[in-house]
Amino acid sequence: MKIFDTMKRQKVELETIEPGKVRMYVCGPTVYNLIHIGNARPMIVFDTFRRYLEYKGYDVNYVSNFTDVDDKIIKAANEEGVPSEVISERYIKECKKDMEDMNIKPATVHPQATKEIDGMIAMIGKLIENGHAYVAEDGTVYFSVDSDPDYGKLSHKNMDELQSGFREIKVTGEEGKKNPADFVLWKPKKEGEPYWDSPWCKGRPGWHIECSVMSSKYLGETIDIHAGGEDLIFPHHENEIAQSEGASGKPFCNYWMHNAFLNINGKKMSKSEGNFFTVRDITSQFDPMVLRLFMLSAQYRTPLNFSRELMEQAKNAYERILNCTDKLSELKAKATGDSLTACEEENKKQVEAFIKSFEEAMEDDCNTANASTAVFEIVRIANATTDENSSKAYVSYLEDTIKKLCDGVLGVRTERKKEALDADIEALIAERQAARKARDFAKADEIRDKLTAMGIILEDTREGVKWKRA
Ligand code: AMP
Ligand code: ZN
Repeated sequence: MKIFDTMKRQKVELETIEPGKVRMYVCGPTVYNLIHIGNARPMIVFDTFRRYLEYKGYDVNYVSNFTDVDDKIIKAANEEGVPSEVISERYIKECKKDMEDMNIKPATVHPQATKEIDGMIAMIGKLIENGHAYVAEDGTVYFSVDSDPDYGKLSHKNMDELQSGFREIKVTGEEGKKNPADFVLWKPKKEGEPYWDSPWCKGRPGWHIECSVMSSKYLGETIDIHAGGEDLIFPHHENEIAQSEGASGKPFCNYWMHNAFLNINGKKMSKSEGNFFTVRDITSQFDPMVLRLFMLSAQYRTPLNFSRELMEQAKNAYERILNCTDKLSELKAKATGDSLTACEEENKKQVEAFIKSFEEAMEDDCNTANASTAVFEIVRIANATTDENSSKAYVSYLEDTIKKLCDGVLGVRTERKKEALDADIEALIAERQAARKARDFAKADEIRDKLTAMGIILEDTREGVKWKRA
């Protein structure tokens, strides 16, 4: 299997440290708000990559963090007048709901920065001991990029470039730096911020150290694959390498995978630009599987532009899959015959050729665009070559194949969601209102319970009954 390695700048063969096992780390979101569909891109593409590795028989140890201490979280907490963890816990929960909706498998571990502070203090201590970090007068600990001759090896930047970049940025409060390119490992607390004790000062970690610590704690000092969006190459991943290798003296990671951006009107979708849609915005209008199919319609290193037209196309494509699997399950219920006819054997060969192209696409740097095309070809064959006379064996083969590739690897559910239609819910609410008017409270309660079981939350307001999906 070939993957494009950002450090080597070419496609290379994947060879894991332990045969049959993959240790993989994917940088996760900062939890101060609902995630946007740009954040969903790495989640979906690397989940799909993981699913393919598992399809190939690898045992994947997949770690993805939540950054739960950060300026943006503190700002949001101060605005609401609540402690930071109220904000971070709320949005971790919301993020997990979005992930479940998008059929993203839970990571083996989802560590949180605030629960790994001891490990960070230990690693920073080690970096000071190894001569890679120093403590400024105010207690800030900086990583010294001059102590690391390899610094810049991932982003392919040299020290001159780096320094001229930093000279232009006037950072106040970082006067204790020896080199403008040095970065913070630990910083003193400020009024109204969460803090922890440390040998240097009461304070909190810089952003980069958490991933170095979590990666080595859960996956070992050297891992197979580290992944994230391409905006993380510099400085985040560059700094992770400096920290991890400076502390352990061993190579940090063998392969670096970075997804290109999800854009909107040609510009990166981001919270700070305000040009974003949350996953929740989109999944309230489309089935989350449509979003997933849309995301996989491009290979992960190709920029992808979000548009309503493309979402509509993905919706039609998803409907094609569902119509096919509906048809197959209906046929299967009635069909007989446990062996394939000669003609079905021929059709099966065609399907097998597309399974092969699916696998080839996935093995060529996780080309989900070509892999999806192969699935649609199989759907086309399934539609064209089945009817009431098809053998049960053939229909089952097609159904299993589509499930294996589509549900299993692409993570696109092929079972139609049995969701209540808005009209059905409204009819039940009207029925409940009528029961209440007639003072039949037992019936009204019964209808409310039924709606609760359907995942509908009712709210009695002055304007009448409002409802939402849980
Ligand atoms: P953040 O919460 O900003 O740290 O982002 C979490 C993950 O989402 C990182 O891997 C980012 O690189 C990725 N990401 C953020 N915005 C986009 C975007 N517009 N397109 C693709 N990936 C993104
Ligand atoms: Zn990270």
